[in-house]
Amino acid sequence: MSKKLNGTVIVTYRCNARCTMCNRYKCPSKPEEEISIETIKKLPEMYFTNITGGEPFIREDLSEIVRELYKKSDRIVISTNGFFTDRIIKLCEEFPNIGIRISIEGLEKTNNEIRGLKDGYNRGYTTLKKLREMGMKDVGFGMTVQDKNAPDLVPLYELSDEMGMEFATASLHNSFYFVEAKNVIHDRLMVAQNFENLVNKLLNSKSPKKWFRAYFNHGLINYIYGQKRLLPCDMSFDTFFIDPYGDVMPCNGTKDKEVMGNLNTQTWDQLWNSEQAEEVRSKVRCCDRDCWMIGSVSPAMHKYIWVPVLWVLCHKLKFWTKKKYSMYENKIVRDYRDGKVSKEDLDKCSTCDMNCVVNDGLSKASKEQLKDKSGEEIVDADIEKQMMS
Ligand code: SF4
Ligand code: SF4
Repeated sequence: MSKKLNGTVIVTYRCNARCTMCNRYKCPSKPEEEISIETIKKLPEMYFTNITGGEPFIREDLSEIVRELYKKSDRIVISTNGFFTDRIIKLCEEFPNIGIRISIEGLEKTNNEIRGLKDGYNRGYTTLKKLREMGMKDVGFGMTVQDKNAPDLVPLYELSDEMGMEFATASLHNSFYFVEAKNVIHDRLMVAQNFENLVNKLLNSKSPKKWFRAYFNHGLINYIYGQKRLLPCDMSFDTFFIDPYGDVMPCNGTKDKEVMGNLNTQTWDQLWNSEQAEEVRSKVRCCDRDCWMIGSVSPAMHKYIWVPVLWVLCHKLKFWTKKKYSMYENKIVRDYRDGKVSKEDLDKCSTCDMNCVVNDGLSKASKEQLKDKSGEEIVDADIEKQMMS
């Protein structure tokens, strides 16, 4: 029997939010081109599947997609901006074991400024509360930490903790997937300080899962200082992404879209064992983008488990001797403090590129529709039509 994989299914590039760190909402996919049930049936066996977008709940056939994916996946988690409360609740009534991660980018004011969704915070928060009341177990917040919301990091973690929910963090990334190349952390020290506080809260908890989260957040400090990943990146070896057009890709962090094959026209075995897939794997082997997103880090933490285990043991021991985690354990943070590297040097280590042309990974037909209308106009009209029917 072949090994089960870790897969992310991008069911749509349509999105109703207007996030400051992601331009995907300007570049939607055409609904008729989006991944079909027939293509989903061709996916391999997975131990974990993440369903994402755009905003996945824009797809009215999401429950059919989930039903199909459950035939081949041990665990499914949907990432959403939480706006379509009724749709989320309905889906969870049908699939009570599903995981839901709602992106909340800070407390009310900050979230609404970053996400650009009318009453976005209250909608997201209300959805989370309703899911909890329904008895859903695998529910949580997702936050992309940046200069603007870093001070809300610990308060939001505490809120999630009070509600007994998972708390997933990320930081700014640039890629074709986010249709963005200019994301960068400006005040690294302040952001790292907030991550340090979170790491200490997590290490101080009684939950081993949270201790490993602490390691992940320690890795985020390393990432925002533009350093080499703490763990190798093995995307495309036992992990894959599939986009709305059926293109199978190693990840969502590359500058341009990298394609291993297309599942609309090929079988899984054909594409996974193809020369094209091997070429992508050799690019991954020398990729220097050093992303630190849960999609690529979680499989690496399982594969190279002794690295986080040793880190956790060492830091729990420190805690018992009343010493806390310090961001200055990272050499680069000390070097920056001591003036050995400048902000400009660190900016150069990041993937931020103010002059590059951003690839959006859209198909020709999806690009074509943007000639007469903006992505926002197309998606708004689309949602309005859905609400009327
Ligand atoms: S980050 Fe997510 S919710 Fe925000 S615009 Fe991008 S796809 Fe939409
Ligand atoms: S570091 Fe890994 S996840 Fe990031 S772009 Fe490279 S291959 Fe993809």
